[in-house]
Amino acid sequence: MPFRCDLYDDPFTPTFRLNEVADYLRKKLPKAEITAHGELVREKLDGLSERETVLQRLAIGFAKARVHDPYQPVTEREPLYGEIAYERRRLAQRGEAKGVVYDGFMVQDLLASLFDRSEMNRRSLPIVFTNQLLATFDESDHRYHLRTVILGYPAIVSTTGLVEAPAKPREFYIAREQFRAMGLDAISPVLAAELKDRCLLPNDKRLTEVAKGYALQAVFYALFGEAFCDDKDCRLYNAHWQEEMLHAQLNGAYDLCPRHEGMLQNLSNLKENS
Ligand SMILES: [Zn+2]
Repeated sequence: MPFRCDLYDDPFTPTFRLNEVADYLRKKLPKAEITAHGELVREKLDGLSERETVLQRLAIGFAKARVHDPYQPVTEREPLYGEIAYERRRLAQRGEAKGVVYDGFMVQDLLASLFDRSEMNRRSLPIVFTNQLLATFDESDHRYHLRTVILGYPAIVSTTGLVEAPAKPREFYIAREQFRAMGLDAISPVLAAELKDRCLLPNDKRLTEVAKGYALQAVFYALFGEAFCDDKDCRLYNAHWQEEMLHAQLNGAYDLCPRHEGMLQNLSNLKENS
């Protein structure tokens, strides 16, 4: 049975092009079955007779997964009516996810419930692209951190997380504080242009190219139980800074380091012989 990978679109981020990610994965994994789908919730709920019930369950689930305090793990609580209503609007009308941060593992559980149990196996991986901000609680420093990717089933790549999670150059934060003090939300276009080579900015044309590497991390984790690489030139490099992320994804000496490229090579040779 070949490895299959189902990709679900984030249609709310104009600079994200799912088909290019799908083509890239097809090139890296010629034996795999790669399918590009529309947005996950729309795709799973369209035509479903219990659509209303599932929509309500998802809205409650997302409302419960909201991170209200970055220093406290999310605990079981009754969400407010307004929070559920917000999530319903977001899910039904595909509104923007405006600055709300969600617990990544709770969202993953919620999305997993949309898949058939029989689909869950080592030979199949759904990757869901979303504009939602996802964070996971780190026990070592007792706080939430924004994430680019949540590995597992389904894997989730946050397109907003690619812009927000890896740290930007210090100059960006200093400038942002200065502009906020003046009541402005965004930094000046001049400064944005200066920082362009060092971080992704909202509506960045390079987003799709960067997202390819994160999809590949999810695939490596599913296939080999190993998602990250120590080599700064490899697409699997676990970047903590925007500059490192851009280098590994756009300007690395190679696409994948020889070891990881070899792992994919072995995989396709194995399949040819079997
Ligand atoms: Zn590598």
